[in-house]
Amino acid sequence: MKLGHTGGDSRQTSAASVLAYIGLGANLGDMAETLRQAVRALAALPGTRLVAVSPAYRSAPIEAGGPDYLNAVVALETGLSAQGLLQALQEIEQAHGRERPYVNAPRTLDLDLLLFGQHTIASATLTVPHPRLTQRAFVLRPLLDIDSGLCAPSLGPLAPYLPALAEQEIEGLSLSLSGR
Ligand code: AMP
Repeated sequence: MKLGHTGGDSRQTSAASVLAYIGLGANLGDMAETLRQAVRALAALPGTRLVAVSPAYRSAPIEAGGPDYLNAVVALETGLSAQGLLQALQEIEQAHGRERPYVNAPRTLDLDLLLFGQHTIASATLTVPHPRLTQRAFVLRPLLDIDSGLCAPSLGPLAPYLPALAEQEIEGLSLSLSGR
């Protein structure tokens, strides 16, 4: 769903704004409400405008046990730096009580920076494009729902990666994450 609504403090959006894609996932608690609150929090970031919210998907955990996940992707136009955006994502996760007791533990909220314009980043804290972007149907499907022609730096067009993920269990849901 493309949105015309301007959230956050658009006065801080500069000509250097980039289109960033964020992956959202939750598999504990009221997952739909958590993702709706996360979408609102992302839209309210300084210098940031919510551009699109994908449909929601149910997905089985990969390399982990626990309940199924609720997943979605949002597109944001933002004047934040990539590092500033990562910090904001981590603050939103923390606000939802995210703990990391062990790798791939169930989580109330997981936010990943998938793409940051056409930037490639490989720092100690941030890898963009996200390293598992083309390996996870619950990321790739909603990304392509937002933009079927999406291309990523160093990966090229993303649609051709999807057929190889056909065996991953993922179900589209008729659930709006952008409503009030
Ligand atoms: P996770 O447990 O999956 O939320 O991973 C969070 C860790 O991954 C943090 O320490 C981040 O610094 C790091 N990280 C590296 N690249 C990214 C990215 N593109 N998006 C989110 N976290 C990232």
